[in-house]
Amino acid sequence: MLDTSTREARTHFYNSQSWRELRADALERDHYECLWCKADGKVTSNQSAVLEVDHIKELEFYPECALDIDNLRTLCKDCHNKRHHRFNYKSHGPKKENKWKDDERWD
Ligand SMILES: [Zn+2]
Repeated sequence: MLDTSTREARTHFYNSQSWRELRADALERDHYECLWCKADGKVTSNQSAVLEVDHIKELEFYPECALDIDNLRTLCKDCHNKRHHRFNYKSHGPKKENKWKDDERWD
């Protein structure tokens, strides 16, 4: 099993041949476009931005998904930064606000 729990291990992973190949496949599959920008109606391609391949289930916590192309998506550098700095960007990742608080009280 791949170890991705440390920064060193992840750097090693990102330098591996298998990652480089899979990453190239993911970019090709996504037509070299940022998926988040695309969802927003914008085209951000490798002509206009730096594209990166993101692990949907984060590498650090899901080593078993590290080389699963279904766990990869192409994002531009801006979107990728937003994701990892956890800016409140759209509603990626369900964030359940107290949705009941104005409806019914359970107390
Ligand atoms: Zn983007």
